[in-house]
Amino acid sequence: MNEINKVKEKIEAAKKILLLGHINPDGDTVGAGLSLLLGLEKKYPEKKIRFILQDKVPENISFLEGCEKIERIEDSKDETYNLVIFVDSATIDRVGSAQELVKDAFKINIDHHISNSNYGDINIVKDISSTSELMYSILKALEIEVTLDMAGAIYLGIVNDTGNFAHSNVTENTFKVAANLMELGVNNNKIVNDFFKSKSFERMKVLGKALSEMIFVKEKKLMYFYLPYEYLKENGIERDDTEGIVEELINYSGSEASLFLRGEADGKIKGSLRSKHNIDVNKIAGIFSGGGHIKAAGFTSELSADEIVKKVVENL
Ligand code: 5GP
Ligand code: MN
Repeated sequence: MNEINKVKEKIEAAKKILLLGHINPDGDTVGAGLSLLLGLEKKYPEKKIRFILQDKVPENISFLEGCEKIERIEDSKDETYNLVIFVDSATIDRVGSAQELVKDAFKINIDHHISNSNYGDINIVKDISSTSELMYSILKALEIEVTLDMAGAIYLGIVNDTGNFAHSNVTENTFKVAANLMELGVNNNKIVNDFFKSKSFERMKVLGKALSEMIFVKEKKLMYFYLPYEYLKENGIERDDTEGIVEELINYSGSEASLFLRGEADGKIKGSLRSKHNIDVNKIAGIFSGGGHIKAAGFTSELSADEIVKKVVENL
């Protein structure tokens, strides 16, 4: 039996299904999980299906139809599930505290990260633009009709992970899927405007701070910026407000790699890495037990910002 038939069999046998995505959810985790939730609910109305995340869905994603169905971990601790489907999560740890809901459930892992550890009982892991692009083909294979709400979620997921069809992870298939989604009625202009052109005042200000204080390490063509937690707290800056800084840092013509470091409430530092051409940042994130893709990766570390920068520079 091929993988998808096994997935179908497991879904059909399960009474209670839990969908999980990664901490600090982005458009791809939400797009993939939400489209699957809506599709499963429609095809199997008798089943109990929930999509639970540790963290809040960012404002600029929550306009998606159906997003209000996504739950937070604290509302849902006591349930037991027959089947857990992980989306866009390279390791089990990536779902954060939602891990405690997994217990002995059968695990299906649907993802596109090259660093994925194949932790599922079934693993559908493909090197493709986004988990959302992958989810489109999975929904088709499961003979689940893609509705306009599901199409919008998938489209946003693809836009999120391809930088609106600009990154090197875009293939012919990405455009074919996008074309199919538009045939279903997706309004690309509205989705892109709601997603990109809806930044908070704090987000604009912190981007300005990053662009005026960033540091360039000429020998390694690395542009980096560190934002301490105290600054976030004092200026009412939320985690989501720092999205996109690392992409701006690599826009400098001299940059081949960029690093954005952000202090967290627990004293750790969250790192985001991007590469323009040949540098493998997945490998660099791996030094700090993180991962992702060759051109976009991340990690969380207990080291100081200076120590992290030193290690990154040494390894570039
Ligand atoms: P970002 O820099 O936007 O947080 O993440 C870039 C890419 O790396 C995304 O694909 C994200 O899923 C992945 N990533 C970010 N942080 C981590 C991490 O701590 N561990 C792993 N395995 N992947 C991460
Ligand atoms: Mn993704």
